[in-house]
Amino acid sequence: MHLDLNIKPIMSSRLQFYHDNIIELCNELISIPTVNPPGVNYERITFVLVEILRDLDFDVFEYRVPRYEFSRHGLSKESEDRINIVAVKRFGNDGKRVHIHTHYDVVPPGSGWCRDPFKPVIENGKLYGRGASDMKCAIAASIYTVRIVEELAEKLKLDLHGEVLISITPDEETGGLTGAGYLAEKGIIQGIDYTIMPEPTSLTYVWHAHKGCLWYKIKIRGRQAHATLPHLGVNAFEKMVQLATRFIEYRKIVEQRTSRFEAYPVEGNRASIAIGGMCSCCDAVNIVPGEAWFTIDRRVLPEENIDEVENEIRAIVDEFRKQNPSIDVELENLLRIEPSYIDPNHELVKLIQKSVREALGLDVKSVLCPGFLNIRYFIKAGMPAIAWGPGDLEQAHAPNEYIELEKLFKWMKALIAFLIYALKGN
Ligand SMILES: [Zn+2]
Repeated sequence: MHLDLNIKPIMSSRLQFYHDNIIELCNELISIPTVNPPGVNYERITFVLVEILRDLDFDVFEYRVPRYEFSRHGLSKESEDRINIVAVKRFGNDGKRVHIHTHYDVVPPGSGWCRDPFKPVIENGKLYGRGASDMKCAIAASIYTVRIVEELAEKLKLDLHGEVLISITPDEETGGLTGAGYLAEKGIIQGIDYTIMPEPTSLTYVWHAHKGCLWYKIKIRGRQAHATLPHLGVNAFEKMVQLATRFIEYRKIVEQRTSRFEAYPVEGNRASIAIGGMCSCCDAVNIVPGEAWFTIDRRVLPEENIDEVENEIRAIVDEFRKQNPSIDVELENLLRIEPSYIDPNHELVKLIQKSVREALGLDVKSVLCPGFLNIRYFIKAGMPAIAWGPGDLEQAHAPNEYIELEKLFKWMKALIAFLIYALKGN
């Protein structure tokens, strides 16, 4: 099926009609600083979202993560409520169930801003503010896109069948356990045919896969002594450096491994390890340090088995332990995220490619994401999911973050086409 010639002009006129509302909602969402960590102003932003969703005739459901589950998710008792919103629009009977998965938290602004990160402004077609690309504008765009599809279906008697759900969730920037993780674990999101997560992929990329991730803290205990009597001590710092050197050797092996999938950014298709992102030792000059620790961050390819990667790391530590009986080495896992993917030619990917081609005349590449994505929760629960959105990856988490409004509206056009194809069943 090609996009009906009738659809394009009406689609453009509806986008024009809602243009100011969409920008207004982008501005409103950006101006609520939902900074995570620690995760604040969640109540405020969900209030705004629920109101607008109800105005636009969505069925709206709110799911609060029970406070007794907070400690399991690494949240303190003082943390604000974690609120998930699921907004639903039904079209006809049966049909495909499409899920647009978004998050409303943003990373802290950091330094280097030339403007207030929470006072959005538009300059030269770019909307500036923390969360513009990742991903508050995509939330606003998703909401109005589904609304426009509903209007098109009515006006043009499109005979659509299925359901569109928009989930709007907290805590993606800190792992998503109370957002996507919660929705998948509790079966709130289930039986979905296609999940799209509008992470910043510059419109023309689809992330069908992402790497896994392992974080470790490695602590070495020797024996502290006065610097004037070093023979009484066992220098933990020196041992740490020796062990870190083993990991530098391991890095050379790791970096040889590449994924069969192309990546965006291109360099991202290699396995990697970052050593010493955090490290610490003693705080005095005149001692032989008795304790020292450092971290490693290991990115795992979809082709690698995460258990085997863990074994590789453990083996390096075990061997070092054996050779150094005078010290104690502790290996603590801080994070373990498995790689996740669907086929790069999955029908979900193909349908996005077709939609972007029909609506915009552009080609979409299906590639591996070097970071990790919330889509893993849905893929693990048996639901195909990808990331595809209007923001730019270079903008995400950067100072002076912006989104190109032209791209945002182009993405909406392609998403309208996608939803029509999906709900028509072809
Ligand atoms: Zn994001």
